[in-house]
Amino acid sequence: MQYKRLETYVWWTCNQKCTYCIEFPNMEQAWNHKVSKFDILKKLIKYKKLGYNHVTYLWWEPFIQPVFLDALILWKKLHYTILVTTNCTTLHIDKQASKFLPYIDELILSVEAIDKEKQQLISRTQNYVHWDEVFENIKKYWKWSFLKANIVITQDNKDILFELVKYLNEKWIGKIAITYPDLTLEYYGKEHTLEKIAPRYSECINQIIKIINYCNIQKIGLKLPDFPFCIFPADKVDLYLKLTDDYDFATRLKIRHTGEEVDRWDLTDANVLPRNRRHIPKCDRCKYEPKCWGPSVFYDELYGLSEINPIF
Ligand code: SF4
Repeated sequence: MQYKRLETYVWWTCNQKCTYCIEFPNMEQAWNHKVSKFDILKKLIKYKKLGYNHVTYLWWEPFIQPVFLDALILWKKLHYTILVTTNCTTLHIDKQASKFLPYIDELILSVEAIDKEKQQLISRTQNYVHWDEVFENIKKYWKWSFLKANIVITQDNKDILFELVKYLNEKWIGKIAITYPDLTLEYYGKEHTLEKIAPRYSECINQIIKIINYCNIQKIGLKLPDFPFCIFPADKVDLYLKLTDDYDFATRLKIRHTGEEVDRWDLTDANVLPRNRRHIPKCDRCKYEPKCWGPSVFYDELYGLSEINPIF
């Protein structure tokens, strides 16, 4: 059967306000938009008829949305494979985990910090994710198809990345992605972006190299989306560049809350660049130009481009 993946929404609110979240501008516009069970059913039947068989709930916090359980039940009835990303703020509650997790096939956990103080700094709330209990509940109620932790690098966790990976390994997480944040300067402004979101590449790379070596030894599937290839040591760049493509899926169809298609990315090996990364003159001369993500948009406004060293 052809694998066709739909990225969609159920509702547009979150119980956190993470310092780096690129969805806030969209979320603010749709915060009061209501969705009924019927809306969800209509959408899922439409795309089922078009051959879609995999649904991703990628943004905002699903487990607090009023119709999420209904949506899961409908998706399952229509035989969709379901991928959900979550901040896990409610999954330590036994009743909550037992109700939702049995419907979910693939789970991606956002893990930016383990200790309370850092979690609250990054989430800009008083929330505290009880990670030990969350992992216990996942073990108890979820049926193990695809489980991954995603760490977004921020100014507040850039020095604890290795500890985070070690903790996740102790919790038997075999797939980890460490993502350099998107820099939405128009929304967050330069001051917030510099202070809370974006470290220099050079500030993270030593931890990243240590993590790559650790993950190799521990046989953890590591992905490093959004790093330009040339910030890695030149002699090993070919090895590292394999880690930077985090797209497991051939086709993504993204739908806005109003139901219309907003974006369609058909990805192949030669076309792994769905985002609007800046093509800088330096990259034009690099042998990795067609494959590399390049530096983050706005990176040069924050730090210049002296770290970008084309590879000829
Ligand atoms: S010069 Fe540009 S294309 Fe080449 S590795 Fe660096 S960021 Fe990527």
